[in-house]
Amino acid sequence: MDFPATDTSTTFAKPLSGKLAVITGSTSGIGLGIARALAEAGANIVLNGLGPVDEIERLVAELSRMGVEVSFDPANLMLAESAANLVSSAIDRHGRIDILVNNAGIQHVAPIEEFPIEKWEAIQALNLGAAFHTIRAALPDMKAASFGRIINVASAHALVASPFKSAYVAAKHGVLGLTKTVALEAARDGVTCNAICPGYVWTPLVEAQIEDTARARGLDRTQVIEDVLLAAQPNKRFATVEELGALAVFLAGPFAASINGAAIAVDGGWTAQ
Ligand code: NAD
Repeated sequence: MDFPATDTSTTFAKPLSGKLAVITGSTSGIGLGIARALAEAGANIVLNGLGPVDEIERLVAELSRMGVEVSFDPANLMLAESAANLVSSAIDRHGRIDILVNNAGIQHVAPIEEFPIEKWEAIQALNLGAAFHTIRAALPDMKAASFGRIINVASAHALVASPFKSAYVAAKHGVLGLTKTVALEAARDGVTCNAICPGYVWTPLVEAQIEDTARARGLDRTQVIEDVLLAAQPNKRFATVEELGALAVFLAGPFAASINGAAIAVDGGWTAQ
């Protein structure tokens, strides 16, 4: 029997050259950091997310300067059909989808008795439902090509809970269950599906929840940062979007072919406790 060897001929300078990557929620924060890293590694990029048109045009121009093809799709991923269309229209335009990063997400912090029902539903739809719909739309082409890399940006909250985040923790645990299921279903087709589980990363999403957390717990801003956000993170530092981008490049590349169904914690040791 021949044992498979990893082809290392194209893996260093631009390991993802010629691949097509769709990154949800990539106009900001972690998704943008991952899009920048994938573009740097040579992948053509479909950006998605909300934000001012001129800012998005600036991002498209910035990433294009890396010598890759970059487009923007404004799909609102709260809607199942739009999430599926984000993928199918990328396949229509490029004839392929190699890398799918499910990253778009929102947060709301409140005690469960006061948790607004519409916030619960929005968080399930975007943080969990959209990943189901994009994966469902992408898998047939990935399987036909015998190659696919699905990376779900979950959270440390896919592994452990914190109070006042019922909808987010439930959705992120769901994302990890989805990740493992897809990994098993596609394991023989050259497709991997993994979850990145960051602890706290300094992005607009974290900035926005400081006020809510302060209100819910009766604390000031500094107390929220030091005593709540970084309380569980033993290394006492925020992870960076560049660290997550580099991990996504690795997971999308040839050396990660055997990493499948994994939850990769990037949390400074939080979930080791
Ligand atoms: P962010 O707010 O900076 O970015 C969220 C992105 O999602 C933006 O591009 C936004 O436009 C997009 N988005 C929001 N609603 C959308 C919709 N309806 N349709 C399409 N796109 C939409 O947040 P972030 O901190 O970069 O978070 C990105 C992901 O990482 C989320 O899934 C979040 O849960 C996860 N995460 C973040 C942290 C952290 O500390 N920042 C930690 C763990 C996990």
